[in-house]
Amino acid sequence: MSDTQMFERVAIIGIGLIGSSLARVLRRDELAGEIVACARRAETRDKALALGIADRATEDAAEAVAGADLVVLATPLSAYAGIAATIAPALRPGAIVTDVGSVKQVVIRDVLPQLPAGVRLVPGHPVAGTEHSGPESGFAELFVDRWCILTPPPATDPAAVATITALWEKAGMRVVVMEAEHHDKVLAVTSHLPHLIAYTIVGTATDLEETLKSEVIKFSASGFRDFTRIAASDPVMWRDIFLNNREAVLEILQRFSEDLSALQRAIRWGEGDKLEELFTRTRAIRRSIIEARQA
Ligand code: NAP
Repeated sequence: MSDTQMFERVAIIGIGLIGSSLARVLRRDELAGEIVACARRAETRDKALALGIADRATEDAAEAVAGADLVVLATPLSAYAGIAATIAPALRPGAIVTDVGSVKQVVIRDVLPQLPAGVRLVPGHPVAGTEHSGPESGFAELFVDRWCILTPPPATDPAAVATITALWEKAGMRVVVMEAEHHDKVLAVTSHLPHLIAYTIVGTATDLEETLKSEVIKFSASGFRDFTRIAASDPVMWRDIFLNNREAVLEILQRFSEDLSALQRAIRWGEGDKLEELFTRTRAIRRSIIEARQA
């Protein structure tokens, strides 16, 4: 056993971008005695083994979690309820179950009620990512200087929260604890709405008539290009995010639509001062993001 080992056996259910990046951190820092990966497709499991980020790989989630002191759910959100039902009877007493999902109330709704007594749930969201998917796209440095939000339900064992905090700190993250509902509201603004806007803009461009469409692609300036990068994010993951954070997304979308209408009116009536005032405020936000080292 290495001096740095935190866990005897870690089961990572879903070994894609996020799961494999965490596995790389576990490997790099020798934090786990054994890493077991779980994925549905043989191709994914073979890649994880070939990359050396898992010692074993299985399609059976119950087999993966047997004997594990840490279980990490890193699949799309829609798989959570089924996986929780499958693993519940196989979980080791005292094990910690955590996740990396982009919406947090769903974990407390779909996973918590299925866990046996003595198993500790610490939902988490490492706010770091790229538009790429799969085990080959992960890298250990993905998490460096980013925030990880943990949303433990009120009665969670503080020792389990401390362990998951320490894990993400090893990955280079700054860890903060908040209520799941608050997390989902904040992320609706900072992540979910921007993705929805990107999907809409790129969707509009794909509906243009052929000549216009090819010119949009040919002369793609940074504005449109940046949106295409965001709109290239995984379709299943983002479908699940919108379906599982429906209320918060709809609420922020309502406010966004009102603000967009106000801008539309300002353009129509030539109210340059209104446009300039908004663009000056938004530029200041960009500066504060750079100062917070989140650019
Ligand atoms: P990803 O690269 O597509 O990986 C998902 C993995 O889950 C794949 O290995 C997939 O392999 C496996 N999987 C899917 N359904 C499964 C099931 N029922 N049982 C077992 N394995 C299953 O996705 P990701 O980007 O890592 O996202 C994973 C989670 O992280 C999502 O919940 C997402 O909300 C969250 N997240 C993502 C980002 C981001 O920027 N990408 C950032 C923060 C958090 P098979 O297809 O072979 O099963």
